[in-house]
Amino acid sequence: MSKRIDVDGVEVELRKHHFSKQLRLSIRGGKAMVTMPRRASYRVAAQFARSKSAWIVRQAAQSTVLSPPTTPQRNQARELLLRKLEQWSPEMGVEWQRLRIGNQLSRWGSCSSSGTLSFNWRAMYLPEQLLDYLVIHELAHVEHPNHSPQFWELVERYDVRFKQSRKNLKQIDFTEIEG
Ligand SMILES: [Zn+2]
Repeated sequence: MSKRIDVDGVEVELRKHHFSKQLRLSIRGGKAMVTMPRRASYRVAAQFARSKSAWIVRQAAQSTVLSPPTTPQRNQARELLLRKLEQWSPEMGVEWQRLRIGNQLSRWGSCSSSGTLSFNWRAMYLPEQLLDYLVIHELAHVEHPNHSPQFWELVERYDVRFKQSRKNLKQIDFTEIEG
């Protein structure tokens, strides 16, 4: 169940959630959302969002114009990811073709059918454990271009903490990383 409202030109989604205990405001990829307990009213959630309008507008503006990396940043990201790929690729017995460093707004990484691995340049700011998980995840896609049980089995073989890492990675907001 959800509803959309406009707060000073920014669309804000009000979403009821089973596990919410209180109103919570978040921004991801230029989209704002208030999660709320099921019993709370949309009117109160809308009031809550409007009381934070200055923050919402600032965050939304920042996240939609997320800057591309500078050349040193791009080089640093490439170097780090290359090092990680050279570590995990032989260990997993998976071969990849090409490394691309991108400025995607909503993804950490992806893998094409031709074996090109793309990583968000911001991955270089990730804690080691999450970076390892990300690289293992994309390498596993070379073997399994899906999220099948076989795919996750392969991931788990090299990262037993993958479930936690996956959760943590999803929760990181790009705007926070740029800081
Ligand atoms: Zn995946």
